[in-house]
Amino acid sequence: MIKKGIGASPGVAIADAFVYVKQDVEIPTNEAKDVKEELKIFDEAVEKSKEQLAKIQETAADSLGEEEAAIFEAHALFLDDPDFVGVIRSEIEGNKKNAAKATQDQTDAMYTMFDAMDDAYFQARKADIKDVGARVINNILGIEEVDISNIPNDVVLFAIDLAPSDTAQMDKIHVKGFATDIGSRTSHTAIMARSLEIPAVLGLGDITALVKNGQKVIVDGSTGEVVIDPDAETLAKYQKQQEEYEQYQKELAQLKDLPAETTDGHRVELVGNIGSPNDVEGVLKNGGDGVGLYRTEFLYMDSPEIPDEETQFNAYKEVLEAFDGKPVVIRTLDIGGDKKLPYLQLEEEMNPFLGLRAIRLCFAEPELLKVQLRAILRASVYGQALIMFPMISGVGEVRQAKEILKGCMEELDKEGIKYDKEIKVGIMIEIPAAAVTADIIVPEVQFFSIGTNDLCQYTLAVDRMNEKISYLYNPFHPAILRLVKNVIQATDSEVGKFTGMCGEFAGDPYATLILMGLGLNEFSMSASSIPQVKKIVRSVSYEQAQKIANEALMLETGDDVRKFAEEEIKKLGIKIV
Ligand code: PEP
Ligand code: MG
Repeated sequence: MIKKGIGASPGVAIADAFVYVKQDVEIPTNEAKDVKEELKIFDEAVEKSKEQLAKIQETAADSLGEEEAAIFEAHALFLDDPDFVGVIRSEIEGNKKNAAKATQDQTDAMYTMFDAMDDAYFQARKADIKDVGARVINNILGIEEVDISNIPNDVVLFAIDLAPSDTAQMDKIHVKGFATDIGSRTSHTAIMARSLEIPAVLGLGDITALVKNGQKVIVDGSTGEVVIDPDAETLAKYQKQQEEYEQYQKELAQLKDLPAETTDGHRVELVGNIGSPNDVEGVLKNGGDGVGLYRTEFLYMDSPEIPDEETQFNAYKEVLEAFDGKPVVIRTLDIGGDKKLPYLQLEEEMNPFLGLRAIRLCFAEPELLKVQLRAILRASVYGQALIMFPMISGVGEVRQAKEILKGCMEELDKEGIKYDKEIKVGIMIEIPAAAVTADIIVPEVQFFSIGTNDLCQYTLAVDRMNEKISYLYNPFHPAILRLVKNVIQATDSEVGKFTGMCGEFAGDPYATLILMGLGLNEFSMSASSIPQVKKIVRSVSYEQAQKIANEALMLETGDDVRKFAEEEIKKLGIKIV
């Protein structure tokens, strides 16, 4: 059986299926028969929970870093909290509740209490108490949690979705690939898969219901195909493909230290998209010249509360130091749309992607932006930081954001704190209005970075998350190419300014020749895409690329452009795996 989903991280994985679905738990309602025995069951469950959390925290710290591991420390604190443990014990003793019921009731009570508090800290505690409560209940009832941190053999992991805590725990040695029912190319899970360089297919609908534990499966993260129980012929075909992919990666790895330069000496920057300091290694390993997009919202999403200035400063400093003077573009908070923060209570909106998102939210809550800007400025002395504002629709917003930045600089001056006074400021071009008025905006910034993920959805009116209309989501569309050209022209008109691209399109090997020919200076992508794009850049002259771009601009539809791009790649004799 072959299922098609969204290829979210390239490569082929062939292994046994491991289905990871959390079960629903039924809580018994009977009275405690033997109070002493019930208290013992409860105390043992608490101890076991503590041991489990300590173990998870340790693995998370190794694989994902101290920051993400801190979530589990917050969980463990409840297990010593008299408001949790103490109340449950007295409910068992006084009201003869069974241990599971008492735990459930107190978890619910604390959840409701946190929910009612209009404070980011308590909003975050809500999710924590729910997790901890469920863990203790599982231990009381003897429900074995599926342990994905220690899997004895090579597997492909199947799940409805994978939460950050799942990916944190996941056995990185034996999980060879993963496939999920939900998720899109730009979801957190997809970004995580790419930074771990594990093949992944997401958005498969009902794959967890179709596949059984132990069945042989194939996941092709390049084409988005998942094969369950392949016949010998199919298996052989994919095995060959897997070998070719690995061989090809080895070949590409040899380009690591060579510049991204055309045969006639035109140079472009190939840089990485990162979501946390843990992604730095992948960018360096793949020969990235720096970071073109640091999605700082993941720092907020993986934290139980708004990360304070110090926490942010440390994360930015770590990345800047790792890149040792190479550029690191730090994007300010882009929350809203599909990215939510549990501790920021935002009203439900009819059209969240057109709503209070990113810079708009920061203008509504300027304190949020100020803390972040201060942290970036303070970190800026440890390397080459650039500041980038997302979701800008016109020059007025750029001026407003720069005004806030100026205020932060003045504060730091007064406090005698050093920062890079020449720090470059740029914006994301992801709203068509900004792309069209790039010439008006350019005097206010040092660079643009085109966010094709959103630019495409806003220009073509195609929801980037909606699978039903994904056939219309085509960044090769002439409208997008024209906008890209317009933006590049704007920075070309001013000395020392540049246009980059950090949407997924920048890492699409079929787009490289056209984008380079249009004059794009910087390509920012998932680390694993860098070698392939570098190979293409190094295979042509700039003149050839310009010719290809000009021809592409004359085509009428996105499909025509894409087909043309494929032919040009074929002519160069480059294989794309
Ligand atoms: C984009 O919109 O292209 C982009 C890079 O930002 P994000 O995917 O985080 O919205
Ligand atoms: Mg965007």
